Amino acid sequence: MIDFSLTKRERKLQRMANDAARKLIRPIARYYDDYEHEHDEIKERDAIRQAQADIGMQSLTLLRQLGKEPGTDLSGIVATEEYYWGDAGVSLGAPNVGLGNAAIFAVGTKEQIERFGRKYTAMAITEPGAGSDSAAIRATAKLDQSTNEWVLNGEKIFVTGADRCEAVVVWASLDRSQGRAAIKSFVVEKGTPGFTLTKLENKCGIRASDTGSFALEDCRIPYDNILGTPEIKVKKGGFQGVMKTFDMTRPLVAIQAIGVARAALDFTKEKLEVAGYTFPYDRPLGELSVIQHTVLEMEANLEVARLLTYRAVAMMNQGLRNSLEASMSKAKAGRSATLVTQKCVALLGPLGYSREWLVEKWMRDSKITDLFEGTGQIQMLIIARTILGFQREQLK
Ligand SMILES: Cc1cc2nc3c(=O)[nH]c(=O)nc-3n(C[C@H](O)[C@H](O)[C@H](O)COP(=O)(O)OP(=O)(O)OC[C@H]3O[C@@H](n4cnc5c(N)ncnc54)[C@H](O)[C@@H]3O)c2cc1C
Repeated sequence: MIDFSLTKRERKLQRMANDAARKLIRPIARYYDDYEHEHDEIKERDAIRQAQADIGMQSLTLLRQLGKEPGTDLSGIVATEEYYWGDAGVSLGAPNVGLGNAAIFAVGTKEQIERFGRKYTAMAITEPGAGSDSAAIRATAKLDQSTNEWVLNGEKIFVTGADRCEAVVVWASLDRSQGRAAIKSFVVEKGTPGFTLTKLENKCGIRASDTGSFALEDCRIPYDNILGTPEIKVKKGGFQGVMKTFDMTRPLVAIQAIGVARAALDFTKEKLEVAGYTFPYDRPLGELSVIQHTVLEMEANLEVARLLTYRAVAMMNQGLRNSLEASMSKAKAGRSATLVTQKCVALLGPLGYSREWLVEKWMRDSKITDLFEGTGQIQMLIIARTILGFQREQLK
């Protein structure tokens, strides 16, 4: 039987992470929401670093554990929920845990993990003409055999952490005529000539996290900065190398969604309890008020999303293929978080919509979890294709 009840160690880390989120992250949440891009590096990074120190582990441990070390320990994912419960934007800005770091741990060699694993690394897949259909990307990488360097050209948009990151994992094609199989990922360090940050977005949510665009113009990087093999396997599995990254990042986005939604739900329940509501778990549906039923239903939805996420992570920890389960966790968590935060705003009336409280912010912060790393619709498409055994061409 699969059992996801937390061990004593996991529960302890959860408590410590929640304590750090409550004391260090939550208090600076509104500040960074108000002042997007005006991030006070020292204040912000100190808060995150202290949080990490407080829970007695490096964020890197989470990625190592998720990607490489077999086992059943869920403490990394459990702690991540607490950080995002503290604040999504601030946590996305934490060093070492960029989406690019996940890519490096998912497909990088030991040597690449040594070289880049500790740098805050963003992930650049999306382009003006390629979002959901990541196979449509136009950025190119050509090998200059005289210098043994990759030469990258193209444009990348909506890169999370674009300003603050130290490196970016860039998806580019070795040969556009060979389709998806020729798409590879490359680590490009900030400061590399020909790699320019061109724009920063002004966003609706996760405003403590910066998002920006890059231009790659004859940008030269060392040969060893390619993640995985340069071989183009057209017939079988060519695209799977880069797609493996999503198997790791989608459960991470799912737990982010759950953290944000739980923040809104915990707060809403507290306020409703002060107003005299109780939330019994042992009464028939017909005896519950609409408010009681709504709250219990939201809790149930988040618990389902959490269990799906634990399953996706547990499978990954055991080295099992988890693409279907990763998509399921993200589809359920992203959608549930969006609905839960909206309902919390509604239940709290005008004050839910006011900036006096953080509920309106959680509603804005949650939406991105149903968009990036593949939208909810795209996850449903992947799930349907996998269950029905359809090829991409048969269901799009
Ligand atoms: C704040 C923010 C941060 C981001 N961070 C990153 C990042 O770090 N790195 C990165 O590479 N990208 C990032 N993105 C980009 C994000 O991953 C894309 O926006 C997302 O993949 C969707 O692509 P798109 O915007 O081009 O939408 P489109 O692909 O144009 O889709 C538009 C709509 O159509 C739907 N749709 C598309 N195709 C289908 C289909 N076949 N069936 C049904 N519905 C479909 C989609 O679900 C969506 O609702 C970020 C975006 C935002 C807003």
